[in-house]
This record gives sequence, structure tokens and C-alpha cells, in this order.
Amino acid sequence: YDPNFIRNVAIIAHIDHGKTTLMDRILELTHSIDERNMREQFLDSMDLEREKGITIKSHPVKVFYTSKKGQDYELNILDTPGHIDFTYEVSRSLAACEGAILLVDATQGVQAQTVTNTYLALENDLEIIGAINKIDLPSANVEETLLEINDLVGIDSDSIVKISAKTGEGVSELLELIIEKVPPPTLKGSINDKLKALVFDAKYDKYRGIIVYTRVFAGTVKKEDNILFMASGKSYEVSEVGVFHPEMVEIDNLSAGEIGYIIAGIKEIQEAKVGDTITNAQDPTDKPLPGYKEVKPMVYAGLYPGLPEYYEDLRKALEKLKLNDASLVFLPENSPALGYGFRVGFLGLLHMEIVKERIQREFDLAVILTVPSVIYNAKLKNGEVIQITNPSQFPDQEYIESVYEPYCKLDIITPPEFMGDLINLAQVEKRGEFLYVSNAGKNRVVLHFEIPLAEIIFDFFDKMKALSKGYASMDYELIGYRESKLVKIEIYINKEKVDALSYIVHESKAYEIARKLVDKLKDLIPRHQFEIPIQAYCKGKIIARSTIKALRKDVLQKCYGGDVTRKMKLLEKQKEGKKRMREIGEVSIPQEAFLALLKID
Ligand code: GDP
Repeated sequence: YDPNFIRNVAIIAHIDHGKTTLMDRILELTHSIDERNMREQFLDSMDLEREKGITIKSHPVKVFYTSKKGQDYELNILDTPGHIDFTYEVSRSLAACEGAILLVDATQGVQAQTVTNTYLALENDLEIIGAINKIDLPSANVEETLLEINDLVGIDSDSIVKISAKTGEGVSELLELIIEKVPPPTLKGSINDKLKALVFDAKYDKYRGIIVYTRVFAGTVKKEDNILFMASGKSYEVSEVGVFHPEMVEIDNLSAGEIGYIIAGIKEIQEAKVGDTITNAQDPTDKPLPGYKEVKPMVYAGLYPGLPEYYEDLRKALEKLKLNDASLVFLPENSPALGYGFRVGFLGLLHMEIVKERIQREFDLAVILTVPSVIYNAKLKNGEVIQITNPSQFPDQEYIESVYEPYCKLDIITPPEFMGDLINLAQVEKRGEFLYVSNAGKNRVVLHFEIPLAEIIFDFFDKMKALSKGYASMDYELIGYRESKLVKIEIYINKEKVDALSYIVHESKAYEIARKLVDKLKDLIPRHQFEIPIQAYCKGKIIARSTIKALRKDVLQKCYGGDVTRKMKLLEKQKEGKKRMREIGEVSIPQEAFLALLKID
């Protein structure tokens, strides 16, 4: 153990830019693993991750590299997810490192998604090494990409390498550059100080309980030590410490500067909070590492089984997912329209989509998700203050003194040519307030806003991407609650109130959104034997309506006198279809109708 020869780096890359391939080459070059089981070892990624373009969970990897000068080094390489919902986790992974590899596909150039993470790395004072990948391809635009990286982080060409992760060209130069430029962890703490270790991730294992991924900043930790998690206040006895080489390997001590894992009989992932500081319970440090934040769900939505009888299965699925997802929270709830289900809290809409998709794919359960909502506060006339996580709980106007909604500070990084359109989007369309613009590098500006959280959680990100041809990226942070003129809209279908379709909106938008919503519902709900009125109520008045015309023919009539199997098939098919429908009164409502609000523009 000599921390002078340790280098800790994170990889920042857009999906498909070659992160996995590069890791494979590094493992090969450092003889860390036999080629047979190479791919499963690093990034054991789900299909879902690839589709959504993010990594949800992956191991750090430790390799040994002998430099050209013959010196042995220990390199720890961490992965970072590239989505705004997980910004806090990324920031903690970056905090565990002294350097970052910004990996860019030379045929694609710098993608906006990586910009935010690169800025986070700069905020954490990381040394950034640029790696221009895929230089073996004829379509590679190496010089252009070099200029972009220069522009983005202002790093000189001598901190940028040109590589092909596929052929291996330039990969050892990349490792040499890391050794030369990235500082050793020695400046941040010594083995002789009291234990300070950062939790940057954690994983649930069926047999071993929670495995804590940690970076030790000071002191040392070993088996049988009593450790204290400073934020949660809980202590445990260590049963094993080790490193990822790349599979888990037990070692005697994990010391200042090193990255590895701790197993300590922790049962629940909520006990090992990302960003928490681990110290020695007998000889604790007096000051935790900076940057710890309690991650709270930003949005809540109702989650219901496709058919009521699958409620228990849904509960089990959520509990399973929660084992590995500390930010997932849920409570049972009951909707008059949908029956028994859950109110689930998410970090953002991507997180929500991931949870929904996983329940459908991994647990084979059809689910109904209702419109996501932020948490509102209401002060009632009787002096009581209530929290509203479900729009249907929004009290009647006559009881309300005032309503408050969460506001954010929003920063958008963009090339200057999109400035006008983006300010327009945030200010005119989304109730934001433009504060000022600042410079970021040669060809980028940062637009600063304050904006209601409710306005940015839906389609803001997509709209921003579309307006900026994909170049703008954003970052937001909650700044508190502000009083706001909010109203509840309730939807009646065939004269029955459908509580799961209620939503809260700013008064100024009530009419417009109600109009669009009733029209959208008309498209999404199939015709029935009878006419179905759809009405939107606000403060006791109908503010919009539409009508679904009656169907003329009975589907089954086609089969009368016809052959029986065909009739059976048709009935079967209808039954299948029913699984994806919910009966509200006499009306069958398809799942997607409950998210109609997300589909209007
Ligand atoms: P990731 O999503 O960042 O992990 O990207 P992958 O490592 O899976 O790479 C995405 C695709 O690019 C794969 O088809 C790789 O084979 C290919 N690829 C990665 N690096 C290179 C390279 O240097 N040259 C070429 N020609 N293809 C590459």
C-alpha cells in the first residue's frame, strides 16, 4: 500500500461512445481478467439501461498497471450515470475520485448529456482527461472533436488522447496520461488520521446483505472494526472489506486513498445512504465529509395493478425493487376509481419510467400509472397546513387559505444561438423567471432561471432538447416553496368522477389544459355502445367538455351464426384487451388514458 501510486478516476461518456469497450481493453491490457467472462464482469447492464441511455448501477473496477517507466500503479475506475434524475449519485461518485476520463465518440462529438457531468467533475476539482474514441473509423472527425473538448472544459490538447477502444490503439497512452496528470489521493487525507470513508453507492445481495461501495479518505478500516454511519447514526461490525478486481476480492485493510467495499451486516439499503460518511465508532472523526444530501422524491404518482387481483404481486415487486433502490418510496393508497394501489415517490420522470418498465418486464405485471405530481403545501382557513402528494387530496377551494408549490433554480447550458428560444420556453410557456446569462467556455452560455418544479418535470427536458438540436443541457435544484394560484381540475367520465385523473394546475393554464385533456381522453378511450360525456370541473364549474360518440355495431354481431372458434377467439381477445382496461362505471378506460396529461402538448 502506497497511496502515491493510486489513481482514482470516473468515466464520463454518452451511451454508445465506447465505455464498455474501453473497459474491456483496459482489463485486457492490465491482465485483470480472463477474456472468457470479460463482458459480464464490468457493467452488468440491463437492456433497459441501454434503451434509456444510462447506466443505473455498475461496479467500480480496480486494475494494476505497470507504467512505461516500470512503476506499478493501482487504478480505480468508476462509472457515472448520465441523467439529471441521478445527478446527486453522480456527484458522489465524482467526489470519490481525483480525475475523470471524458470519453467522446469522434463520429458523434460531445453530446449535451455529458456536459452536465463534466461540469460536476470540474466543481469537484477533478483533473479531466479527454479521450477521443473510434479514431479507427473513416467517419471519425478527430480535429473537430478535439476543438469541442477544448471548448467544453478548456483543457489543452496535451490532456487529450486519441484512441480506438476497439483496436486498442492509444489505450496505454491514456493510462500513462492518467498517471501523469491525475493527482494521487495523498493530499486529501492520510492513513494516520481518523477513519473517513465516503459511501458513493450500495448494492443489495441476497446472501451478504448490503454491500457498501466506498472511497476511504482518511484512516483505515478492517474486519471486526465497529463503524459508524455519521448521517444515519447507526453502527455495525465489519465482516469483510475488499476491492473490485473486478470481481469482489477480500483484503485485510481498506485505507486512505483506496476504493472498495465494506460488508457489515447492514440489512437495508436505506441504512447506507449515498453521500454518508463512515467513521470508526470507537474513535470517530469529529467532522463528516462535505456534500451529504438527503435525497427526497421530487414527484409522486399512483401505481395500480392492471387488474385488482394483482395488488399483492405489485406490492412484492415494489419491495424487491426497493431492496436495491434507496430512493424509491411507496405507501398504499386507495382510489375510488382504481381500487387498491400505491402512491410512489420518484426522483424524476426517468426514474418513474424505469420503475414502471422493470415491474412490467422483470415481474411480468401490467400496471397503471397515474399522472405524476409534485408535492404541494396548502394552508387551510382553520390554520392547518397540509402536504398534498396526490391531487385528489387537494381540498375544496372554500377551505383553502393559500397554496404553495416547490420552486427551483434552473441552469441551462447552451450554445448562444438557442438562447432566445430557450428563454421563451422557460419564461412564456413554463412560468419561469429569467434571471441572467453567464458565459461558460468559448461557445456556451448558461441561462439562469427560477421556475416551478411542476413545470420542468413533464416535458421540459424533451422540449429543451428539441429546441437546441440536442445541445442544451440542464440542471436544477430545489430552492423552496412559494405561494401560487393553483387550482384542482377534476375529470368526470360518463358523469362519474375519476379521481385518478385529477390534477393541480396554475389558474392561468386551467382552461387551456382542461380543453386539451378532454380532447385527448376522447381519442384515448374507445367507443362504447352508448355516448360518453367527458367533463372537466374547476371550482364547481364545468370548464371543458367533449363527447365520445356511441358505437353503432356490436362486435359480436359479426359472428352470429358464424363459426364458434372464431367467436371464441374474439372473446379471448377482448379479455386480453380488458387486462389493459379499467372499468369505471360502465366505461372501459385504457391504461394510457391515465397518463393523458403527459401526452398533450
Ligand atoms: P457504451 O455504451 O459507451 O458502453 O459503448 P460500447 O462500448 O458498448 O460501444 C458501442 C459500440 O461502439 C459498440 O458496437 C462497439 O463495438 C463500438 N465501438 C466502441 N469503441 C470503438 C472504437 O474505438 N472503434 C470502433 N470502430 N467501434 C467502437
